Amino acid sequence: MEVTVKTNLLNRDRSGMEGFFADLGEQPFRAAQLTRWIHQRGCSEIAAMTDLGKGLRERLDAVAGISVPAIVREQVSDDGTCKWLLELDGGNCVETVFIPESGRGTLCISSQVGCKLDCAFCATGKQGFNRNLTTAEIIAQLWVANRQLGRGADGRYRITNVVMMGMGEPLLNFDNVVPALNIMTDDLAYGLAKRRVTVSTAGVVPAIDRLKQASDVSLAVSLHATNDELRDRLVPLNRKYPISELLAACRRYVADVPRRKITFEYVMLDHVNDQPAHARELIRLLSNVPSKVNLIPFNPFPGAEFKTSSPDALRRFRDMLQQAGLITVTRKTRGDDIDAACGQLAGKVNDRTQRSRKYQLKTTGVAV
Ligand code: SAH
Repeated sequence: MEVTVKTNLLNRDRSGMEGFFADLGEQPFRAAQLTRWIHQRGCSEIAAMTDLGKGLRERLDAVAGISVPAIVREQVSDDGTCKWLLELDGGNCVETVFIPESGRGTLCISSQVGCKLDCAFCATGKQGFNRNLTTAEIIAQLWVANRQLGRGADGRYRITNVVMMGMGEPLLNFDNVVPALNIMTDDLAYGLAKRRVTVSTAGVVPAIDRLKQASDVSLAVSLHATNDELRDRLVPLNRKYPISELLAACRRYVADVPRRKITFEYVMLDHVNDQPAHARELIRLLSNVPSKVNLIPFNPFPGAEFKTSSPDALRRFRDMLQQAGLITVTRKTRGDDIDAACGQLAGKVNDRTQRSRKYQLKTTGVAV
């Protein structure tokens, strides 16, 4: 028996969709029609797309579909933050978080199942790595969240911003992330302004340059340390791309774009990177990069080797940066009661690196 694998149309940005219709011998405007149905109207049934002739719908249905991951769990925090656990093909799960704030709603989406980078303070890293998400699995997080939030009937629950700050390193899944960014910013899909879509990276330097060519959305960089010795320990990727190379790539990213700034994320770890000397080093490092600084209080997880900086240390650090003229905000921890805060996303990773096993051995002394 011949099994036909249907094309999942969620994988296609507009140009991909045009290619798909060209192969079928159809006009390019069909791509615009399908994009609107799928992303603007949240439709997952080709049969329901009534402005397509019946014949075309039947032909399409035979070769294509819109396949969306199932929601395994939906949690709503006391502060309004929502978290969804989505089940992917192969039994892995990823998490997506919606954070309502006054005047905006931010969706934090994942790009990989687990993560290869193993940053010392991150729960996802401890779970090891399994695989990249497809474009469909990345954009499905927005599709599903939009549907669950009622597509903005209540302004408070409208998605106005997307940050790729969930599980995984987006720039190590470049080829699938870029079409997803295209769909987010496509006027016929979600129509988000480029400055409201942010890719966050631990510093994959060559991919930062490629991103500028391919998509040009906002960039956040997880700096977390002010010298290579400490950053090598906190963000092991630094051994490959040290701070000076990373900051040079950041300067290239903002060059020739007036008013654009890089957001530097800095997780505040008690007595590790939160002292006045670190603040002074940070001020010096960022003196020639147009920047904003986001201080993130460390969110603990079981077995973590760090503590959150004291409120005093946090305030002192922030004040020093602000006095030096750096735009600095302290990120509020949201969704704490549902483990939805930065670095706490875990999902379910069938770990191919065996890292989670080693981690459990280290923290509990027994293999599980
Ligand atoms: N791989 C991307 C996206 C990761 S998550 C990156 O490194 O930027 C988004 C942010 O949360 C990163 O800045 C990450 O360093 C931070 N983070 C990870 N674990 C954390 C924790 N336990 N507490 C606070 N922030 C954390």
